[in-house]
Amino acid sequence: MATQFDFEEIARFTEAFGIPAHEEEISELLKGRLAKLGYKVEFDMMGDVIAYSPAFDKKSKPMVIAAHMDEIGMLVKYVSKKGFLKFAKIGGIDSRMLPNQRVIVKTKKGKIFGVIGTKPPHVTKASEMDKAYDAQSMFIDIGAKSDKEARKMGVEIGDPISFEMDLARLGNDLVTGKALDDRIGCFALVEIAKRLKAKNVVIVGTVQEEVSTFGKGAMISAWNLEPSSFIAVDTSVAGDHPEMREEDGAVCLGKGPAITMVEASGRGNVVDKRLAAMVLETAKKLKIPCQLEVVEGGATDASSVYNLKGGIPSVAICVPSRYIHSNVSVCSLADLKRTIDLVVGLALKGKF
Ligand SMILES: [Zn+2]
Repeated sequence: MATQFDFEEIARFTEAFGIPAHEEEISELLKGRLAKLGYKVEFDMMGDVIAYSPAFDKKSKPMVIAAHMDEIGMLVKYVSKKGFLKFAKIGGIDSRMLPNQRVIVKTKKGKIFGVIGTKPPHVTKASEMDKAYDAQSMFIDIGAKSDKEARKMGVEIGDPISFEMDLARLGNDLVTGKALDDRIGCFALVEIAKRLKAKNVVIVGTVQEEVSTFGKGAMISAWNLEPSSFIAVDTSVAGDHPEMREEDGAVCLGKGPAITMVEASGRGNVVDKRLAAMVLETAKKLKIPCQLEVVEGGATDASSVYNLKGGIPSVAICVPSRYIHSNVSVCSLADLKRTIDLVVGLALKGKF
């Protein structure tokens, strides 16, 4: 049975432009949705969306439920005499995914399309065909004939670039698209907010999670809000496809949210045992299947929050995603629903 979500609305979230430090489009979308629900919404100094529930009580510490709004992308680094753009990667990008992608360059004059072109097989030696390109040798073609023309189109050094990909459905309630990490989490925030209007919660859309070891926006917002606990709604690496060995990732699609017990091999958040127990108890009570994971090579916003002030119990509750950090990441809407239900159940359970 198909899970009932507004597909077009999820697409608005995943297709919105928003590489680190350029989250305006997605943050305006999220702000608008949360304001409509009666939340008092503001931006903090970093650009984080801070949404106070109608029942927010400044006399007691709130639970903060957050998702990061930024996505991986690129920046214009140089414009060649012939009008091609050289770029710098922003966030964790495997260069092998870049060739022949369509991209969007956001200039002060507006958005323009570009493509990361490569030479065709007709003129490529057989020995070259199996070799990966390195990002330094790649370029973006925006159709300009010269650097002067590129600049006339609005291109400047430092302009943000994102990938271009529509959201589409696959079988078994799966969706595929760009930036599911973590726009699926941003979409979840709105669904969660709908059901927590009567609770002392603050819903936060964070900026710049993808560019530092641990997210910058989450740290600033949690510092200011001093929550009783911090829940990062994010995505995690699913290991259930032919390229991955089973032991590379025990998390699978369709088996419920992943509860991250350890991030970045323990350099990041090691989940507070009492908070983890509360999450698992809630899942059991609500009959929500969930999966436990230990992450060696990655972290969520929970890792930038747990050690602030006097310490803030933090946990990441993640929608499993195949091909994460690519244009064709895949998530299960059934997992999305369970993630939302679990976070709502946790917040309704009471104060941590
Ligand atoms: Zn993420």
